[in-house]
Amino acid sequence: MSGIINVAVDGPAGAGKSTVSRQAAKQLGYIYVDTGALYRTIGVNALRKGVDTKDKAAVAATLSDVSVDLVFENGEQKVLLFGEDVSTEIRTPAASMAASDVSAVPEVRAYLFDLQRDIAARSNCLMDGRDIGTVVLPDAQVKIFLTASPEERANRRCKELLAKGQQVNYEDVLAEINERDYNDSHREIAPLKPAEDSVLLDTTDIPQQEVVERIINIVKEKVQ
Ligand code: C5P
Repeated sequence: MSGIINVAVDGPAGAGKSTVSRQAAKQLGYIYVDTGALYRTIGVNALRKGVDTKDKAAVAATLSDVSVDLVFENGEQKVLLFGEDVSTEIRTPAASMAASDVSAVPEVRAYLFDLQRDIAARSNCLMDGRDIGTVVLPDAQVKIFLTASPEERANRRCKELLAKGQQVNYEDVLAEINERDYNDSHREIAPLKPAEDSVLLDTTDIPQQEVVERIINIVKEKVQ
C-alpha cells in the first residue's frame, strides 16, 4: 500500500460532479482532478485545427503533436494546451460536444489514461469523470456514482451558463444533455456506467451542500 488515497466520482453530464467534488476535495485536503477538462482540451485542439470531431481517424491524428498539461495552483486545476491556459475556452457548448465526440476515440482515451494515472499515483486525490471507477482507477478506495434527472441537470447547467453571462435556452441544454448521455453510455470503449463497487448518490432532490457532506462521510467511513 502506498498510503495514497484515491476517490473516484463518476456520473453523467450536469450531475453536479465538478462543483461538489471540488468542495469535497478541498475539505478533505485532496487534489481535485476534473478529467472532463482533458477531453474538452483535446476537443478544442481539434476544433482549432478545423478537424471534424466525428472523424475518429482525423481526431486520432491530432494527438501526434498535441501537448496537454494539468497544473494545480492553490489547489485549483488549470489545463494547458501547448502551454496556453484554455480553462475558460473549454467550457463553451461547442467544446462540450467536441469533448463528447473525441472521448469515443480509443487513441484519445489511451493518451489521457497515463496522465490521469500518474496524477492519482502521486497525490491523494478526488478525480471526477465517466470511467474513473471502472477503468482509470479500478483500485480506488472509494467510488461514488452521482446522478440526477436529465431535467434537473439541464436546469443546473442553465443556471451555471447564465451565471457566466452565456446565452442559454433550456430546451437546447436539455437536448445536449440527452445527446451526451446517449453518446457517453453507448460508446464501445469505457462507456459511462457505475462501477460495481460504487456508492450511488441521486442528487435530484438533495441540496448541494448536503451532497458534499455525504461524499465526505462516505470517504471517511471507507478510509479512516
Ligand atoms: O465532465 P465534462 O462534462 O466536462 O466532460 C466532457 C465530456 O468528456 C463528456 O461528455 C464525456 O464524453 C467526456 N469524458 C469522458 N471520460 C471522462 C471525463 C469526460 O469520456 N473521464
